Order: sequence, then C-alpha cells, then structure tokens
Amino acid sequence: MHAHPSGPVAVVVDVRHGDWRLGTCDLDGTVRVIATGQHGGMTPGKLLARLQARVGNLMRSLDGRVAGIGVAVPGPTADNRLVHATMLGWHDLEVARVAPTPDVPVVVGNDATMAAMAEARLHTPHPHTLLHVVVEVGVGGAFIVDGRPTPSARGLHGEFGHLPFGDPGVMCPCGARGCWAAAFDVPAVALRAKLRAEPDSRAWLHRLFTDPDPSPEARETRTALAADLGRGIAGLVNALDPDLVTLGGLAAQVRDASPAGFERAVHIGLMKVHRDRPPGVVAALAGENAPLVGVGLSVFDRVLDAEMLARWATRGPVTT
Ligand SMILES: [Zn+2]
Repeated sequence: MHAHPSGPVAVVVDVRHGDWRLGTCDLDGTVRVIATGQHGGMTPGKLLARLQARVGNLMRSLDGRVAGIGVAVPGPTADNRLVHATMLGWHDLEVARVAPTPDVPVVVGNDATMAAMAEARLHTPHPHTLLHVVVEVGVGGAFIVDGRPTPSARGLHGEFGHLPFGDPGVMCPCGARGCWAAAFDVPAVALRAKLRAEPDSRAWLHRLFTDPDPSPEARETRTALAADLGRGIAGLVNALDPDLVTLGGLAAQVRDASPAGFERAVHIGLMKVHRDRPPGVVAALAGENAPLVGVGLSVFDRVLDAEMLARWATRGPVTT
C-alpha cells in the first residue's frame, strides 16, 4: 500500500468498459491508483459488491482521512445512479452502493463529464468554456462552464456520439439512426480495416490507431476516422463556441494517426466566423486518470459546499 501524506483525500473509482481502477485523489487533484481489476462478464451487482469491499479496505487504511467517495461510470448518471451504459447493457444501477457505510458522501458521475471537469481545472489559464470530446468504446464528452458541467434535465447531456453526423442508414446500439459514434463502433471499424477485432475493444482500438506499420486498409480506416472526428468537432464548435477543445480517451490518437486529414476536416467544417479564430484543439492533460481526478475534485466540491452551507446556516452569511 502507498504511503500517503496527511490531509483529506477522496477515494475514487473509475468503472470502465472492461475494467475498474481504484485510488485516492488529493485536494489538488493528485491521483494515486492503488488497485485495478477486470469485470468482463461480471454482473453489475457482483462488481459493486467487489468494489464495496475494496473501497472499505482502502478507507480503513486511510484512517479517517476520507472526505468522500467518487465513482466515475461509463454512462449518464442521475441521483448517484448510472442511468444506462449502452455498450455494457447496464441499466438503472445504484452505484452509491460502493460506499461501505451510509454516512460517507458519495458522488457518482459520468466518466466523460468528470474527465472534462478535470481538464477545465488543469489547463491554465482556466478556460471559461471548454468542450471535451472523448473517444473510447463510443464517443462522448461534456461542455464545461467555469469549471463545472452544464446541467441538464435528466443528466443525459454530453452524448455527442449520438449526434446524427453519421450514415442515416446505420442503426446505433442506442436506438437512434445515423449516430456519429457508429463510425467508431469496433465491429464496423474492424470490417472497414479488414482486421479481426478482439474482446478488449478499447485495447484493440488503441493498437489500431498507434500501429507504426498499418496495412493499407488500416491506414485508410484511420484516415477516414480522423476526418470523421474532425468533422464532428467542427460541428460542435459551431454549436457551442468553446474557448478550448480538449481531446480525451483515444481522441488524440485518432487525430495523430492522420493529423493533416483531421485538421482539414475541422477547417472545412467550421463556420467562417470560427475559421478566422478557431479555438485551440489540444490533447487532454490528465490522461488515463482524468475521470479519477474529476470525480475526486467533485467530491471535494460537494463536501466543501455542504460545509459552507452548514456554516452559513449556523453563523450567518460567510464573508470572504
Ligand atoms: Zn446512437
């Protein structure tokens, strides 16, 4: 087990498509990953029970320093529940069950939204508005204003991959037709690249985009997907007008597999008013830890907000 400095920490978990990661996040967003594991084929109930045991062990080892628990999940959330994870077939999951006791604050957030929050706080100067686009097994992201995600009616926002930037003849697993994310669907990508997909879809995609010696078909597929990504980002910039665009998950690898094709697709897709002064499009800073950083900082936001409110309620308005 790691030696931790003193001070409050959030216990943070990132549940991804095939695996999970558990660690701690300090007040400044420093994350230490302490354990990882696979959950392929496991029922969500069994996974939550396993995580609850791991979280309990970690909290005991941290001896009263835990401010709360943050869990990032691969889908939209509402009231600390995972509403659905299309690619995993999980629905209405009570993720807050990972807390070993009911008295500890828990924050459950969409992994892409949490990653976006992390980026908004890590980039300096802090962008007033930030568009974070994530390519994983699916395409998503978030729009962040002043370090916080924009709210929505049911927490279902940020599903950028389901904008109709794709082929209207193609049915997406989400139930809509013509989704942008369908282009990045692993079986479709494998077919196009004349390659055999593997059970770990994310690892397979990562290899496809970073292979130094791709087949002609794989190269052509990468070029097409980089252009698809650029075209979608241009559309999102036209719609949202962000100060900065950050590329999370595999999005930077998609771009870097065909930088010229990506840049051209962004350029020709932008309205002229943006083309003259386009926002920066940069790789995310937090890397693989981004959802852990974001959900950890969200825990501190929640706890500190609650403390401020309690102070206000008992002592009158807080003056700064
Ligand atoms: Zn869709």
